[in-house]
Amino acid sequence: MKEISTKLLVIGGGPGGYVAAIRAGQLGIPTVLAEGASLGGTCLNIGCIPSKALIHAAQEFAHARQFGAGTSPLGIKVANPQIDIAQTVRWKDGIVARLSGGVGALLRKAGVQVQRGWAQIEDGKTAVITPHDGGEPVRVRCEHLLLATGSEPVSLPSMPFGSNGGAIWSSTDALSPDVLPKRLVVVGAGYIGLELGMAYRKLGVEVTVVEAAQRVLPSYDEELTQPVLEALKRSGVVLHLGCSVAGYDAQQGVHVRNARADEFALPAERVLVAVGRRPRTQGFGLEGLQLDMAGRFVAVDAHCRTSMRNVWAIGDVTGEPMLAHRAMAQGECVAEQIAGKNRRFEPMAIPAVCFTDPEVVVVGQTPPQAEAAGVEAITATFPFAANGRAMTLEATGGFVRVVARKSDHLILGWQAVGQGVAELVAAFAQSLEMGARLEDVAHTIHAHPTLGEAVQEAALKALGQALHI
Ligand code: FAD
Ligand code: NAD
Repeated sequence: MKEISTKLLVIGGGPGGYVAAIRAGQLGIPTVLAEGASLGGTCLNIGCIPSKALIHAAQEFAHARQFGAGTSPLGIKVANPQIDIAQTVRWKDGIVARLSGGVGALLRKAGVQVQRGWAQIEDGKTAVITPHDGGEPVRVRCEHLLLATGSEPVSLPSMPFGSNGGAIWSSTDALSPDVLPKRLVVVGAGYIGLELGMAYRKLGVEVTVVEAAQRVLPSYDEELTQPVLEALKRSGVVLHLGCSVAGYDAQQGVHVRNARADEFALPAERVLVAVGRRPRTQGFGLEGLQLDMAGRFVAVDAHCRTSMRNVWAIGDVTGEPMLAHRAMAQGECVAEQIAGKNRRFEPMAIPAVCFTDPEVVVVGQTPPQAEAAGVEAITATFPFAANGRAMTLEATGGFVRVVARKSDHLILGWQAVGQGVAELVAAFAQSLEMGARLEDVAHTIHAHPTLGEAVQEAALKALGQALHI
């Protein structure tokens, strides 16, 4: 078998692994990256990017349908809008291909050796990579091993993915529909269920959501998710909260049980199961390393070190929050440490954005979290209904909320819900990382007219000095 030696072997070419490899290459570290599927991992190929592409296409079609119905207050009218979903999927695939190709180019530029194939770990310094094109396996010996193997969707035993003639969808299937089903049942009202469920509704599909918890997006606080709940109802998405699913058959559809144990069926041609993701830790020899685990995840310390010397782990395989930007930040941090720099992964906050309509953003502490941490906090909320730019964008639903320490006005957290609030995240995260106080944001000149003025006004309001409300 062919053998190569390197300083760093990265297993997994998702956002965590490819960023680690690029940074390592830039720092002059001989690096090999093994990727069994496509460069860019879940995020670029079957996650963040294709889902946002589909959400955008659905939004455009929803606008066109509103224009077609002649109900737009803007006075725009078009005749009989149509969507060619096969073309939409081709457009989305084009973006994915461009980005995945771009990652390959960046890795080449950084001098990283990419081995396309599945890695099988032999020990903490050796793995065998078997190319999927039937080529000769390669044994790679390394000084540092970085695990960046990501995660995969959790399936329900009563409804395995692909069963019933392909009726049971994972998120990957939902991102590449060949035709649009008439009726879609979504199991799980979390990130994927609501982002894609809302997109399918905008594409004209009858969507019903079944969620085990009593509310949608249960990981966010209720005030923040209320506008999403209202939008779901307005758009005609049917919700069954506090319910579990027991199986599917093509005649009756999804069998659902409510809290009183009553059973009913929801007819549907397709079922999207979006009940969470689990770390990819099995089937490639990881067990043999006998690493300390944190539940199902690989346990890491604040340096992203595992319990074995010179074996590192980043991204979804290391736990929540399973987000691409966390994986990337960890990847950069590990590469710099291997290059001898003194780094730790201890961010002030990891932003979370849910790309529903309206979007939801959380950075840092929420009011209940500040209270639970024993901090005396002030909270202020500024509604987009009082923001001029929001009116011009027909986006007056939602608000920006700030949480600050009462004693010295140190900002502890930002939350927002509304159209386009994802783009406010950069300002939120910077203010937390830089230790900003309410006065810093309140006295920064924000351009007019922008949604960002709601950020300034929330800070002003927390100081008792709001101008536009
Ligand atoms: P992954 O991206 O999962 O990459 C791991 C890679 O390792 C894969 O390419 C896999 O093929 C490879 N691999 C695994 N085992 C081996 C092996 N033995 N040998 C070789 N290769 C191997 N996050 C956000 O921040 N924002 C979003 O908007 C967002 N939207 C999402 C939408 C959907 C539908 C989904 C499913 C996820 C979304 N996520 C989003 C989550 C995001 O995709 C993940 O957090 C991110 O991809 C994790 O990066 P990673 O590098 O840890 O792992
Ligand atoms: P999730 O954890 O966000 O939501 C899963 C939902 O399913 C929860 O509300 C849960 O209560 C519910 N549920 C669990 N078991 C159920 C059952 N048997 N019946 C009915 N409901 C059930 O998980 P997801 O939506 O699958 O997304 C997985 C992960 O991917 C997310 O946690 C996130 O880390 C990542 N992601 C992020 C984004 C983003 O950042 N915008 C988008 C998509 C995915």
